[in-house]
Formats: sequence, structure tokens, C-alpha cells
Amino acid sequence: MLMLAFTCSRCETRSSHAISKQAYTGGTVLVQCPGCKNRHLIADHLKIFESKSITIEDIMAAKGESVSSDLNDLQFEEIPDKLKGLIGHHVKDAPAEFHKEDPNVSPQLEAPKNDEKK
Ligand SMILES: [Zn+2]
Repeated sequence: MLMLAFTCSRCETRSSHAISKQAYTGGTVLVQCPGCKNRHLIADHLKIFESKSITIEDIMAAKGESVSSDLNDLQFEEIPDKLKGLIGHHVKDAPAEFHKEDPNVSPQLEAPKNDEKK
């Protein structure tokens, strides 16, 4: 499971998303911006949108930007609520109650369903 936090290039809304590592490394992943509902391509190993296998790191590199995998760049409030108990303790500004490992929390999560009907 990976967590991705990004700032939308269109409306500048910052959002975070949980994606499965399997999808990121072997599938095609789109995340929807909660601000403008624009869908952002995160990885395309199935070559649906691109002619070669790419990830967000390739996409950002092509734009002259970089992707940070540094946890110090992540802020606690950016973590989706359902993930705070799981990975919150990794973030340095997390509240004290998140600084302990919970052995009952499974590290396996499903990828979020972005096409959920409202
Ligand atoms: Zn947006």
C-alpha cells in the first residue's frame, strides 16, 4: 500500500490517496482530484493512456518536477482518516496517540474505489 499526496495542477487542491503497491508497480492508476474532479494519471503500466509504461515519477520528471518520497514532506492532516491509524505514526507532526504501533491494524488495504457513485 502506498500513500500519495499531491497538489492538483489545475485547481491547486491538495489531496491524498491510498493506492496499492501492486497497482502502482504493475497496473494503471488514476486518482480523482476532490476539487475539480479532474483525473490524474499516476501509473500506466497497462499502457492505456501512454505508449510506454510510466509512473507519476516519469510524468513529473517530464514536466521538470520531482516526486518526493520523503515522509518529512507529508503532513498528518493530509493522511486520509481511514489511514491515520495505519501510517499516522510515520509522520512527524502526528498527535501523540498515533505514535504507537497498533498490532491489530493490518497493513493490507484495498485501493480506494474512485468511481464510487455518490
Ligand atoms: Zn483539481
